[in-house]
Amino acid sequence: MPRAAGAGNAGLIPERADLNVSPDPNTSPDPNISSDLNTSRAAPERAELLLNAHRRLRGEYGEVPLSPRREPMHELISTILSQRTNAQGEDEAYQELRTLGDWDAIIAAPTQDVAHAIRRSNYPDQKAPRIQATLQAVKDQRGNYDLDFLATLTPQEGLKWLTALPGVGLKTASLLLLFNYAQPVFPVDTHVHRITSRLGAIPKMGEQAAHKALLALLPPDPPLLYELHINLLRHGQRVCSFGHPKCGQCVLQDLCDVFKVYGGEVPAFKD
Ligand code: SF4
Repeated sequence: MPRAAGAGNAGLIPERADLNVSPDPNTSPDPNISSDLNTSRAAPERAELLLNAHRRLRGEYGEVPLSPRREPMHELISTILSQRTNAQGEDEAYQELRTLGDWDAIIAAPTQDVAHAIRRSNYPDQKAPRIQATLQAVKDQRGNYDLDFLATLTPQEGLKWLTALPGVGLKTASLLLLFNYAQPVFPVDTHVHRITSRLGAIPKMGEQAAHKALLALLPPDPPLLYELHINLLRHGQRVCSFGHPKCGQCVLQDLCDVFKVYGGEVPAFKD
């Protein structure tokens, strides 16, 4: 079986710290926001806050039915390509990657060819060996690239299997399990992390820890978890940006702890 050129290093690459760049200010605990915030609400109140936010965002952005947006291996590899990359760059990188052939051909290709194919995604030199190593690990463990066995596992078993793949972290694993297999997990991306922190649903913590904290507050209801994830992403892109949140236009304003303290001068969610 061919080995991925350069794949030996890719196993050292965790999901966030993989790209050998400075910490992402969008996902770090916000030092500009007082540590006194987000500590006063009891868990039932924070759970209710999240459900209130879910209802408000549904009113603003609409219902979002849960259905897979792409087949599982596409979702897995595209999620790796999406890190620090906009949607257009992710899609262009994926499309050109697939011109190299099937997954076996991508494993066997020179790593520099893979990096060139995905150059519209940021950090292609780091992502290329990681993608090859991930594909190789799936093939080694399953004998093919069919991930539908994940539907037969518990969410914990699925997360454990996926996060054992080279460089696949909790966010990627959660996205795949929720989007493709309707498992009750909650992916926390930069938008989900930032907004739930500002609202006061979670105390100051990193993105990884927020997965567990938020899931503990939310009902194990995959359609709700999916819709809330998507609508928080939309709200983060359109209103609650990390640098200059448009609080005056925000339907969550009266729910938001940070707005209560800072009013229209909410600080940037960054160093
Ligand atoms: S009020 Fe401002 S900081 Fe709070 S969620 Fe809305 S946009 Fe974000």
